[in-house]
Amino acid sequence: MMGLQLVRVVDEGGDSWVRLELSDGLPTPVANALRRAIINEVPTMAVEEVLVIENSSAMPNEILAHRISLIPFVSDIDNYSLPEECTCGSKLGCERCVVRFVLRAAADTDTVTVYSRDISPEKPDIKVAPVSGDFPIITLAPGQRVELELYVRLGKGRKHAKWQSGIATLYEENGRRYLYVESFGFLPARRMVKEAVKIINQQVKELEQKLEEVMKNAEE
Ligand SMILES: [Zn+2]
Repeated sequence: MMGLQLVRVVDEGGDSWVRLELSDGLPTPVANALRRAIINEVPTMAVEEVLVIENSSAMPNEILAHRISLIPFVSDIDNYSLPEECTCGSKLGCERCVVRFVLRAAADTDTVTVYSRDISPEKPDIKVAPVSGDFPIITLAPGQRVELELYVRLGKGRKHAKWQSGIATLYEENGRRYLYVESFGFLPARRMVKEAVKIINQQVKELEQKLEEVMKNAEE
């Protein structure tokens, strides 16, 4: 996966988790950078903005919006850009950097619990969706209604924990070093590792360019 056999997959649980063994050639600080990148840098998708059109429930708008923002979304990182990197440069976003969803629910004569499965995309046929339909969001009493527009965007754990792709742990056992990676459902565990490597590569490249500039300026 990463060339040179620096790591090998020891075991894995489908897309949920993967355990890698680090070879002697891979320094622990590098493995630690990888661990940190998985937690802070790998982009995922979550609700960044909620537009409340109607909320006659007992739950205040801010709490409702906060609850919804913590739902992890299956993330299409190949087809969407981070808002700060998108070419549109628009605060509202474009179809490359924002996915719109609606949440409409009402309780008629009985109490209704609204779940993440009630969140529907504005455009069908996209793979972005809540990772599970079973997250309870709010309970509506008879006569109460909610109607919300949700703006899902790519983000990073470094900005807000709601975008943290999963957990990553480095540990030693019987003289061997392992990196255990577990996904919160946004991305397959293997993909998280791959993305983290890509991000570190990019950071090193940027550092190299910066250094070259600094050296050049120092010479002048
Ligand atoms: Zn855009």
